[in-house]
Amino acid sequence: MIDCIFCKIVDGVTHAEITHQAEEIIVFKSIQPRAPVHLLIIPKKHVLSIKELTEEDRNLTSSLIYTAKEVAEREHLPGYRLAFNVGRAGGQVINHLHLHLLGGWKDGELTEV
Ligand code: AMP
Ligand code: ZN
Repeated sequence: MIDCIFCKIVDGVTHAEITHQAEEIIVFKSIQPRAPVHLLIIPKKHVLSIKELTEEDRNLTSSLIYTAKEVAEREHLPGYRLAFNVGRAGGQVINHLHLHLLGGWKDGELTEV
């Protein structure tokens, strides 16, 4: 078995606050939130990062983004930020593909990228 914390969350071995489950995707709260709402949208499939995507993962990445839209609506977020950190040099710490959904800031609180 791959020693991956996010695979363990998918398998239910490690606890996380899961907010949404679908066939190929789960969504859970980040353990160290960087925004009032900070959710991680991940494929159940172990893909390392955007760099390791293959042609067959095209639909999967669309699903991640579409799930983000649906979850943001459910959370009543008027606006939000979506981010993939890619590789260690891009700030990626967990080597299992994940899309950050960040939101819930007050007006004027958010700084530009
Ligand atoms: P990244 O820097 O893009 O790899 O982001 C990793 C994200 O995973 C951060 O938001 C962490 O707070 C989050 N994280 C790490 N371990 C856990 C965990 N066990 N449960 C929930 N979120 C986690
Ligand atoms: Zn994994």
